[in-house]
Amino acid sequence: MLKTTASNERPPSHLFYQSRLRRPLVDRAEGIYLWDQDGRRVIDGSSGAMVVNIGHGNRNVLEAMKRQMDRVTFAYRLHFENEPAEELARRAAEKLPEGMDKIFFVSGGSEAVESCLKLARQWAVATGQKDRWKVISRFPSYHGGTLGALAITGYAALSDPFSPMMREMPKVPAPTAYLDRDNLTMEQRGIKYADMLEDKIQSEGPESVLAFIMEPIGGASTGALVAPDSYYRRIREICDKYGILLIHDEVMSGAGRTGKFLGGDHWDCKPDLIALSKGFASGYCPLGAMAAPSRLVQPVLDAGGFQHGFTYAGNPLACAAGLAVLDEIDRLGLIDNAAVMGDALKAELVALSERFPFIGDVRGKGLLLAAEFVSDRETMKPLPKELNAHQRVVDLAYERGLIIYSRRTRGGVEGDHFLVCPPMIITREQIGEIVAILGDVLEQLATELNL
Ligand code: PLP
Repeated sequence: MLKTTASNERPPSHLFYQSRLRRPLVDRAEGIYLWDQDGRRVIDGSSGAMVVNIGHGNRNVLEAMKRQMDRVTFAYRLHFENEPAEELARRAAEKLPEGMDKIFFVSGGSEAVESCLKLARQWAVATGQKDRWKVISRFPSYHGGTLGALAITGYAALSDPFSPMMREMPKVPAPTAYLDRDNLTMEQRGIKYADMLEDKIQSEGPESVLAFIMEPIGGASTGALVAPDSYYRRIREICDKYGILLIHDEVMSGAGRTGKFLGGDHWDCKPDLIALSKGFASGYCPLGAMAAPSRLVQPVLDAGGFQHGFTYAGNPLACAAGLAVLDEIDRLGLIDNAAVMGDALKAELVALSERFPFIGDVRGKGLLLAAEFVSDRETMKPLPKELNAHQRVVDLAYERGLIIYSRRTRGGVEGDHFLVCPPMIITREQIGEIVAILGDVLEQLATELNL
């Protein structure tokens, strides 16, 4: 179990995180593997929290960071600009959809999302649309832990304790079309879910709605949810019809993980703003970014400037790391590898679902993949909550040397899913290692939980 290794027999700590559980002390990491201080090796089957896209211990990135460290690690943006930030902005813009060429750096995903919200709002004010302030999002979803990002996060357990401190933002159901048991085709369901956005805009008052934010491919909250193709097209049409900004939260789905640079690149549905983080610097440094087009940025700058910013924005060391990560993604062809290995891993997960009938759905793109547990595949009825299957599968995998990520949540209904999202450097053999462990884990789960 995650909580019971020898490293846990440690004296009380002054540190605290989200829970009382103590984790093993990490010692080192290389490629897709991590070692704890007891010398135990585990496969990082979730790239941390879907962060370490290029794998651990990449020498070229570390060398680039060392070179930058020898020059300058911090210079405040009011006093100096720096070359790594300039160059990273230029390189990122090349990889982003045409016109998304203004980059605002931050230090993480929540900050990137907050930046999108604040730029959108300031653009509205600067362009005479000050009545627009509502940001519609989906339920379930995760957009970050800061209060602004939490207000648009559809995950009650995380936001409820803080609700008096936040302005409640409208939500629409995430497009969980795979759960529906109606006579519609998937494409019709895609339209149905997108049209829920239009209904919400109508009921909120179109003149009050500023933006709609979504993860193009869901992260942990929905378990790699991919909507039918029709959804993406229709969402763009609706946003255009009402003059609403479309924000893509690519914090988890970006930087190549899904087999394209952005999750949204799988569809012809260009957003107005993009939040990036996690794989962008692959965990070598805290880094995030907002990408925006000039047509949104310029009016804000002309009206007196963007009233937003963080001390570590455009930090030279973080940007040098981000730049070296992009170089490695290109040099090693990691986006293509994520697509090819993702297909192979997905096929293996589908094969496991044929062996284990309590896997009701396998989904995702590239190396952002998930499997969902059900008690009945026909009805997609979830497993009983008391079984705590999502936690048990993680614990059993860890005992066998594999880290995976899991959650219990789903639309209005609850359910368990686990995500398998290894680094994009993964090989076919290493996929074999992961799948062999997962096979044992699911066998054991079936026995223990009587599935
Ligand atoms: N947006 C998405 C889609 C995420 O998955 C996350 C983190 O998991 C965030 C935003 C918040 O990122 P951070 O934890 O770096 O603030």
